[in-house]
Amino acid sequence: MTATTSPASSGNVDQAELDKFSALASRWWDPESEFKPLHAINPLRLNWIQQHTGPLAGKRVVDVGCGGGILSESMARAGATVTGIDLAEKSLKIAKLHGLESGVKVDYRTVSAEQLAAEQAGQFDVVTCMEMLEHVPDPASIIQACSQLARPGGWVFFSTLNRNPKSFLFAIIGAEYLLRLLPRGTHSYEHFIKPSELATSARRAGLQVADLGGMEYNPITDTYKLSRDTSVNYLVATQREA
Ligand code: SAH
Repeated sequence: MTATTSPASSGNVDQAELDKFSALASRWWDPESEFKPLHAINPLRLNWIQQHTGPLAGKRVVDVGCGGGILSESMARAGATVTGIDLAEKSLKIAKLHGLESGVKVDYRTVSAEQLAAEQAGQFDVVTCMEMLEHVPDPASIIQACSQLARPGGWVFFSTLNRNPKSFLFAIIGAEYLLRLLPRGTHSYEHFIKPSELATSARRAGLQVADLGGMEYNPITDTYKLSRDTSVNYLVATQREA
């Protein structure tokens, strides 16, 4: 056990993972940086979310593992009241600074998903947890917390990386070694999650799986698109049981 002074620690944290993101924090809003892929997929996932929830305007949203706030800000721009949580303080500082510059209001808090779920159970219409589960020791605990945060009937969205030989080849060898889209060591294969595993954890947490979608990268055109191919990057839409 490592002692921690984080007010938010639930123990479900890999400090080395947080350090990786903190080291890059200043670059969150540089669309040509290590975070370029997140900027590129953001309009796609924002659309996909709203296809399920309807317009986000007026909805209470929590973005779990929000990083520099790329998705959080876009949801706030769409009119939602957004809380963004992360345990990498540096990233949250950048998120707050960017909010001051852009004038988009998001309530950023350094708190774990589990802790916020204990404080604000059932208070959100929409919960998003994107590209984060593959960085935590116990993803099922995050999924459970996300479910608790949602009101009955509320929407909970996840995205992560599938685990199979193709995802190893594309997400690690391709993205980190050949194309250098991401720094080496960004992802570890053993933390990738199969859709079936995510769905099992979701159901155990009282979430009904409503939709599964893929996100495909085309290295020739350097663009992403939503697709039915969930073999590498994928999104899951779930709804809290009423
Ligand atoms: N969701 C954002 C950022 C994804 S990067 C987006 O898709 O744009 C992954 C984020 O998860 C980083 O900001 C990292 O700090 C955060 N993270 C990793 N482990 C975490 C944990 N245990 N609790 C909260 N956030 C965590």
